[in-house]
Amino acid sequence: MITSPRARPAPKPPSVGIVSLGCPKALVDSERIMTRLRAEGYAIAPTYEGADLVLVNTCGFLDSARAESLEAIGEAIAENGKVIVTGCLGAQADVILAAHPKVLAVTGPQQYEAVMAAVHGQLTPPHDPLFDLVPEAGLRLTPRHYAYLKISEGCNNRCSFCIIPSLRGDLVSRPAGAVLKEAEALVAAGVKELLVISQDTSAYGMDVRYRESQWRGRPVKAKFFDLAQALGELGVWVRLHYVYPYPHVDQVISLMAEGKILPYLDIPFQHANPRILRAMRRPADHERVLERIAGWRAQCPELTIRSSFIVGFPGETEEEFEELLDFIEAAGIDRAGCFKYENVSGAGSHDLPNQIDQDEIDARYEHFMETQLRLADAKSQALIGSRMDVLVDEWDEDEAAFACRGKADAPEIDGVVWVETQQKLSPGDILKVRIHGADGHELRAKPF
Ligand code: SF4
Repeated sequence: MITSPRARPAPKPPSVGIVSLGCPKALVDSERIMTRLRAEGYAIAPTYEGADLVLVNTCGFLDSARAESLEAIGEAIAENGKVIVTGCLGAQADVILAAHPKVLAVTGPQQYEAVMAAVHGQLTPPHDPLFDLVPEAGLRLTPRHYAYLKISEGCNNRCSFCIIPSLRGDLVSRPAGAVLKEAEALVAAGVKELLVISQDTSAYGMDVRYRESQWRGRPVKAKFFDLAQALGELGVWVRLHYVYPYPHVDQVISLMAEGKILPYLDIPFQHANPRILRAMRRPADHERVLERIAGWRAQCPELTIRSSFIVGFPGETEEEFEELLDFIEAAGIDRAGCFKYENVSGAGSHDLPNQIDQDEIDARYEHFMETQLRLADAKSQALIGSRMDVLVDEWDEDEAAFACRGKADAPEIDGVVWVETQQKLSPGDILKVRIHGADGHELRAKPF
């Protein structure tokens, strides 16, 4: 390129490296921070060496996650030296500063203004319009063809094993119009799958009494069903995560049966035994849950249910654990995730008697995972010979196949459909395949 003699080289913008830990909700926070940084002209550095400052977005959900966060902060200090900490563990600045006194600033979850102020305090914003170009859909850490859509922050439930409400506060829902405009911008930018996330997706709008806001010239309520219905108009895959088992969840099954949103429900039941559920401060009517699931499947036979469970909760007997295994089988849970109980300080269950020995928790976890794999494998084998739509994620050299996902598979946490074909496919393409092989959570298929 020829430059005019008067042209000056653009100044190198100050750069910020980001280490993002934790769940998809934290990932969305990181994306928002990155978008704000780029909008103000900062560069995002891919390495510690290239960064003028490192921002560590931490997770504080479990003691193991806190340990990982503290380790990541230590690594960033050793590798770069200038570190700002934000995210869930940021709500406990004393813990961070006791372990790492060299940290420059600490802010809590979703405190975007405070994070930006901390960055400004260390690195002057460049104010260069050349760098102020940010895609309308914001900057994302997920591949281009799928995106997380965060609809609210915080949670009004008080599950006894969980400290998220004390870290992230009570439920604060975004206006429906703002969520839908963000979703539209993501779709316009090429996103083919929207993953709706929050701490408690089915509680959406309860805090604002389902207030209406405008979208496409009409009012839309900030309500679980209304939002899901409107998202279903965008013509892309819409997947619902972290749905608490409230009775009104039944309503969205009709949208799934009509093909408006994916027939997929990520609904963490956590346990099946009523006594344990009560101790967890969760809904405890296990017979009714089985009836409801049967009703959902009658209405929408394609439905995939993902759920997560905790093993080794204080006082869980061998019989109660067996009841949990019977439940995942009887309910036909398609994707069952398992967490080992961690006695997190500050959680309501922390001081409960009869804490389970760690070896026993490990053994129950193994037993759970064997059971869920057997169930998943049986479901996968039953799919051989069937046809389905899959979405392409990427080419995999080792498998000599495209890694794809069906409607039953969320990215990162569920299974893979390996598609063998000579066709030229790109991430985000959707094609029809026939299944010819199955193993655990993985399927093999060819286009037809
Ligand atoms: S629903 Fe329960 S487990 Fe989930 S964030 Fe709220 S309190 Fe924690």
